[in-house]
Amino acid sequence: MSIPRTQFISVEDAYSKYTEAGWQIVPVNGKTLAVKGATGRDGHTESVPPKKGQNVALRLPRGVIGIDVDAYGDKPGAETLKDCERKWGKLPATDRSGSREAPSGIYLYRVPDDFEAITALPGIELIQHHHRYMVVEPSTHPVTGKAYRWEPVGDSLMVLGGVEALPKLPDSWLEGLRATNTGKPLKRTESASDSLSEGNPCGSVTHALEAYEKRVQDGSSRHDAMVAAQYRLIQLGSEGHPGVGAAIDTLESVFVPEVSADRKGGSREAQREWDTALDGALRLADDPEALGCDCDGAQTNLPDSFWESRESLRHIRQAAHSRTSSADVVFYATLARMSAMVDYRTRVDTGVKEPASLNLFVAVVGSSGAGKTSGVSGVRKLMPAPADLDFRDGLPMGSGEGIAEAYYGTVWEEDPSGGTKKDGTPKVVSVRKQVRWNCFFSLDEGENLTKQLERSGTTIGPTLRSAWVGDLLGQANARQETTRVLPRGEYALGALIGYQQETAAALLDDSAAGTPQRFLFCSATDPSIPDKRIPHPGELSGYLLGPDNSFVDTGPLTLEFPEDLKDEMFREMRSYATGEAVIENPLDSHRSLMRAKVAALLALLDGRVEVTREDWDLSGVVWETSCAVRDSVVSYNLAEKTKREEAATRKRVETERRLEVARTQARPKLEKTAKALAKKVHDKGRFPVGELRKTLRSDTRELFAEATDYADEQGWVVFDENERVFYPGESKP
Ligand SMILES: [Zn+2]
Repeated sequence: MSIPRTQFISVEDAYSKYTEAGWQIVPVNGKTLAVKGATGRDGHTESVPPKKGQNVALRLPRGVIGIDVDAYGDKPGAETLKDCERKWGKLPATDRSGSREAPSGIYLYRVPDDFEAITALPGIELIQHHHRYMVVEPSTHPVTGKAYRWEPVGDSLMVLGGVEALPKLPDSWLEGLRATNTGKPLKRTESASDSLSEGNPCGSVTHALEAYEKRVQDGSSRHDAMVAAQYRLIQLGSEGHPGVGAAIDTLESVFVPEVSADRKGGSREAQREWDTALDGALRLADDPEALGCDCDGAQTNLPDSFWESRESLRHIRQAAHSRTSSADVVFYATLARMSAMVDYRTRVDTGVKEPASLNLFVAVVGSSGAGKTSGVSGVRKLMPAPADLDFRDGLPMGSGEGIAEAYYGTVWEEDPSGGTKKDGTPKVVSVRKQVRWNCFFSLDEGENLTKQLERSGTTIGPTLRSAWVGDLLGQANARQETTRVLPRGEYALGALIGYQQETAAALLDDSAAGTPQRFLFCSATDPSIPDKRIPHPGELSGYLLGPDNSFVDTGPLTLEFPEDLKDEMFREMRSYATGEAVIENPLDSHRSLMRAKVAALLALLDGRVEVTREDWDLSGVVWETSCAVRDSVVSYNLAEKTKREEAATRKRVETERRLEVARTQARPKLEKTAKALAKKVHDKGRFPVGELRKTLRSDTRELFAEATDYADEQGWVVFDENERVFYPGESKP
């Protein structure tokens, strides 16, 4: 790209050429106006020649507008310009002025004299007679040191031909940019209401809202982050995603208080900033296409293709549907229960980390009446516990200690201290020790469990997190009778816990500790249950719970991943370890291990000890579905939070309004009191503070401090700190 040559020999030359063409020139220091009174609607319109070292600026007359596109850094001017042109047609060619690369710069157009535009769109500002001015060639940018240049479309500068030489702004643009008469933003008009969709925010909307904080953390200004988030949300709304109205309200309730302290005009200015940006975002919104939203809803159940992929899965679904149970619940319950029934030494080896235990936890999410874990009884019929296995099936889960205790029992052993009975045979004593290795826990309502997670000092959270990876459980107490320890890797444990939306949200709140990351999420409802009765297919067969199903000690079992999958796992783990890739959602942090467990259990379900790629792919479907259920809880949570915050904001606004009323009513009284006190000081010439206070009637005495402060501010009195005496001030009350 050739750098356009400068059009002017000197600043004086530029000044005379600009003014000859009829433009008002104002001098600027850097970018700051160096003359007074040349701004706003009523500012004077005379040109002032710049002094040496000053920059040159054009103040636009009525009838001309400058479209100022900021497309550098993370400023979205280029995208906005594209959106505008898609909506309102291409802009006519005109000269560009600026110190940066195109498309950044200011584009000048002719508009009707009485036309007034809004002030800004995301990354675009509109320069008008009453709003801003433009620094132009031959100025130098005060920060970058670069020269401002005109980039002319033709051979000569249009701007030197005067206003008449500029192209007209097309009508569609005039309408698009026109300021509303009221000065209020377009907010909540008919055209906008479709974009501000109702309902609970879906996954995409939630994500767009959360991107605000993320941008701020990444170093964006709150303003830019807010504009980007608004813009994306409105776009999602016009595409038919629900909950944009609620998300916008949430963003507003976050942004406005956050920036109020930094703005000269306080909350009023912050509010105006918000309104202006929202106005711009709504103007740019596409007409609603109602493409609809399949972010959550449809995928919270495992898809048909999943069920149809294998005989064992078809079997499980049919069994569930024959008993009007959710196939998802029965499937997840089968896996979790299997993880509790397998030989405790069973491991899955993905080739990248230590071989992992299969221990699996499932959170079933549904409404209160749904009987969320009722599917468990169906699972017992599908996959009965082996007769020779000491298996505790469907235990309630109360506390961390209780979990370890379930594996313990009393046995009679020879006295370890070597004591003997009278006949010389060894004494036998009762001992508490681990007597079993397989327990399955199931809880219909997990609310109490999550309440425990919030309390400090309870062991349930750490116990669950350790149990998921098969770590050491419990702790050794001083007295042997109360010691409940399960050594690392020496137990198999599965859990299925029912939650309502609200209580599951509380589980998700424990994500910092890492608890929800260790759960698969499952929908309690299943819209695919057929409307006709179907027969139960009987017990499952062909699955494996250990090296063979006889439970004689044939040694530990390790399920191996195929080599190409191990390579893939390695590459993925490496990309996280080297920082090339990041797990964006902290709730996804255990994705790989979770999928490995599920893939291994699917292999065992089909009677194999080798994990196949198909097992892995199916584990991906399970993971995605689990995430969809989990995200629906997140967005439910968000919508509820918004409702609460809105109520709180309303209350706060009301309180402030009352205070303001009280203040305005109190003011005359305060003034009157201050005047009376000041008069007394002036009359006497000297008044000790205690005595002055006593001159007030008891019902106004509480105003004393404020009233004397006021009198001091007015210059009526002066207070001597040492003597604690008031003297007359410079002015008389
Ligand atoms: Zn959506």
